[in-house]
Amino acid sequence: MKGVNYWLVLCANIALSNCKKYDQTIPWMGGLRLAEDQNRIFKNGASQLDGYKEKSYHQSGNALDVVPYHKGKADYKCEKGFREFAKCMFNAWQYIQKRYPQARRYRLEYGGHWMNFVDNPHWQLIEIAL
Ligand SMILES: [Zn+2]
Repeated sequence: MKGVNYWLVLCANIALSNCKKYDQTIPWMGGLRLAEDQNRIFKNGASQLDGYKEKSYHQSGNALDVVPYHKGKADYKCEKGFREFAKCMFNAWQYIQKRYPQARRYRLEYGGHWMNFVDNPHWQLIEIAL
């Protein structure tokens, strides 16, 4: 989680410690990415952002991927695991927003809620223009 937004890391850590039913892991390239990393992921079809013309929140350290971990590997098909973690994550974010006014300039967005390109592992913080 090196180079990732402080509040996002805090949120994920709280969620991970509260989420007991399914193990979770941060997959390869799930944190901070360079433009060439993002471009490689784009070329593999796992993202719609090419890293140059269209940048990912991973490139600014404002995104983190978390995936259910089962039998020694990341399990992208574990819907229940994603759902449990999402619940823990939104609860943790609510707690952080209540407790730390500094975190209120961000909004937590979940890729699992996107309509056009569902990205179940993906979490990002969007800075709110005040
Ligand atoms: Zn992501």
